Amino acid sequence: MLDKRKFYINGAWVDPIVANDLEVLNPATEKPVAVISMGTAADIDRAVAAAKKAFVTYSQTSVEERLALLEKLLAVYKRRYDEMVDTITMELGAPKTMTREQQADVGVGHLQGFIDALKRLKSRDRLPNGDVILREPIGVCGLITPWNWPINQIALKVVPALATGSTCVLKPSEFTPLNAMLYAEMIDEAGFPAGVFNLVNGDGINAGAALSKHRDIDMMSFTGSTRAGIAVSKDAAETVKRVTLELGGKSPNIVFADADLEDRVTGSVLECFNNSGQSCDAPTRMLVERSVYDQVVEIAKRVGREAKVGDPTQEGSHIGPLVSHVQFGRVQALIEAGIAEGARLLVGGAGKPEGFETGYFVKPTIFVDVNNDMRIAREEVFGPVLAIIPFDTEEEAIAVANDTNYGLAAYVQTGDPKRAERVAARLRAGMVHINGGPHRYGSPFGGYKQSGNGREGGIFGLEDFLEVKTVHVPDAA
Ligand code: NAD
Repeated sequence: MLDKRKFYINGAWVDPIVANDLEVLNPATEKPVAVISMGTAADIDRAVAAAKKAFVTYSQTSVEERLALLEKLLAVYKRRYDEMVDTITMELGAPKTMTREQQADVGVGHLQGFIDALKRLKSRDRLPNGDVILREPIGVCGLITPWNWPINQIALKVVPALATGSTCVLKPSEFTPLNAMLYAEMIDEAGFPAGVFNLVNGDGINAGAALSKHRDIDMMSFTGSTRAGIAVSKDAAETVKRVTLELGGKSPNIVFADADLEDRVTGSVLECFNNSGQSCDAPTRMLVERSVYDQVVEIAKRVGREAKVGDPTQEGSHIGPLVSHVQFGRVQALIEAGIAEGARLLVGGAGKPEGFETGYFVKPTIFVDVNNDMRIAREEVFGPVLAIIPFDTEEEAIAVANDTNYGLAAYVQTGDPKRAERVAARLRAGMVHINGGPHRYGSPFGGYKQSGNGREGGIFGLEDFLEVKTVHVPDAA
């Protein structure tokens, strides 16, 4: 078992102030793989003090100096890529092939996206009225991340903080702390000055809340559940911090009769199941035009039955377990709620797949004849569970798509480009994917409504970490 009890503070690996061990489990075997420490407010104080001190000089570095450090980090990340793959597979249970192609790849993609954006960022500008506008680093940033796409969220927060000249304290998810610690090693190896990046492990109630409340933190960037996002916002309010939030989703996927059904329904089901359904922007509510409903249900049934679960350490396109026992219980409860509320089970259902008694494995599950008022249509399941809902008109599809507290992503499948544009314009979501259009590095990621505030990635992601200063120059003589 790995001993990972130290925190990374002020450029060194240090012991926690008070020992408090937590075992990190492999979700496929339920066996402990490492022991970490759970930090307290005192550890957070120490890390924030280091970040505050480092800000004095780091905030004055040039764009060229910071670009050179980011380029070094990119080189180190690429060299140690396989370690990142193995770490995420071990602590999250994401299968090896998927981790190599997706989970770890985002660490390269986002970093490159931010390097490109930083080269384009105008940190000094002049308004038509003659005033000068400066964009300056916001200060000391508190970063809290979840377990589901761990290095994705870490890169989307740590990199823009460091790119803009801010300093930070990261508190990663206590379920997947090992990839964050590996990232800390890489940052150290890249040669960032001491105190610019700090890492303290711990839970939300203690370490997380201490960060949100801290008076020397200037900004909180949080990704996770809406529940915790509200708690962070409340805790940060006393000291009037900037708070950016990336929260949950219940993304609609409108399938019109004129779509390439075979291709788009297959792709949509697989996307819903990707990462065992543990993606905030997963297309989990499929709205289907009634004239092709039976045809779509047949395609979904075939794809759902062919979906395989399997050992994450094996190569292949199968899905792995859920991250934890708690998550397993939540997903089971929602599958049971779907059955109790009268949705028709097409594929899967409650319980573990045959032959997978050990590990937090669940059956890929599809419900049809779902009504948008059912819990499986309103709540984020965060497991491989798809809800299919019929509709009659374009107007009705838009209304049902928007009838949710969330507004992260939306998906439209149609052979009519004019309709795609018309419908996309009316969907209340931060990102609309048309006919499988993928998310591209450098584009903003974030949501409307209760899916959050702010945007991550590329130039928009840098702007969230910048203050705007107006310099009123005297009138020209
Ligand atoms: P979670 O909210 O329980 O935990 C996320 C992080 O917040 C963890 O580091 C946790 O320790 C911390 N935390 C929990 N309570 C806190 C509190 N009161 N104060 C401060 N920190 C606290 O969520 P999770 O179960 O780890 O992640 C799954 C959720 O994250 C899902 O709802 C998912 O949709 C959402 N998510 C959103 C995005 C996005 O970009 N929109 C991306 C990934 C995950």
